[in-house]
Amino acid sequence: MIRVGQGVSWTGFELRRARMVARLRQMGITREEILDAMGTVPRHLFVEEALRSRAYDDMSLPLGLGQTISQPYTVAVMTQLLFAKRPIKTDQRILEIGTGCGYQTAILQALKIREIYSVERLHALHERAKQNLRAVRLLAQVRLVCGDGYLGLPQQAPFDGIMLTAAPKEVPLPLLQQLAIGGRMVLPLDEGGVQFLWVIDKTAEGFQETCVQQTLFVPLVNDN
Ligand code: SAH
Repeated sequence: MIRVGQGVSWTGFELRRARMVARLRQMGITREEILDAMGTVPRHLFVEEALRSRAYDDMSLPLGLGQTISQPYTVAVMTQLLFAKRPIKTDQRILEIGTGCGYQTAILQALKIREIYSVERLHALHERAKQNLRAVRLLAQVRLVCGDGYLGLPQQAPFDGIMLTAAPKEVPLPLLQQLAIGGRMVLPLDEGGVQFLWVIDKTAEGFQETCVQQTLFVPLVNDN
C-alpha cells in the first residue's frame, strides 16, 4: 500500500527496496550475500525524512554538511570489489573511511563481518551514524570512531579490507601500511579532477593495483 501525499508506508519501502535489488542485479551485481544485505537494510532510515521517498532510487542524496550518501549501485560495487573472488568470511577485520550516515557500514554489518571499524571526521555525522545504526539494530559489531581517516587506526591494524568512501588525491600511506598481507583496499582516487575507482591488493611481494571504472565521491579531507 502506498499512501499518496503523506510519504511512503513501510510496505511501500519494502517494495521499493526489492525493486532496487532487482535493478542492482540487472546492473551486474552478482554476489547473493551482498544483494541480500542490501535487500535487508532499510536505507530510507539513513536519509533525512524529506528524502525518504527517494532512498531506493539509484542516486546519491545529500546528507547535509556538504556530504552525500553514495548511490546504491556504488555501495554494491564497492562491497563486491572488496570481497571479489573471496568468500565473505565473517572473521575479518574491515576498516571504512568516511562513515557519513552509516549506510555502507550497515551493509558490512548485515554481511555479518565480525570486526568493523568506521572513521568519520565530522562529529555531527559520526553521531548521526551512531543513531542510525542503533535505530536499525546494527550497531553491535561496529566500532565508530570520530577522527581523521587519512591516518587510519594503527592500533587496530592490520585490516583484511579497507574501503574509502571519500576520494583522496593520492593513496594515504598510513592506510597502505595498515593493510594485511593478502588484504585489499578499495578506493576512489581523484586524478586531476576526474575520479577512478581502484583496487589495491597487498601481497608479500608488494602492491597490485587495478583501475576499475570512473566514479564520483566527495573529497577525502587531508590535513596532514
Ligand atoms: N559511506 C558513507 C558515505 C559518506 S560521504 C555513507 O554510506 O553514507 C564521505 C564521508 O567521508 C563524509 O561524511 C566526510 O565527512 C568523510 N570524510 C572526508 N574526509 C575524511 C577524513 N579525512 N577522515 C574521515 N572521514 C572523512
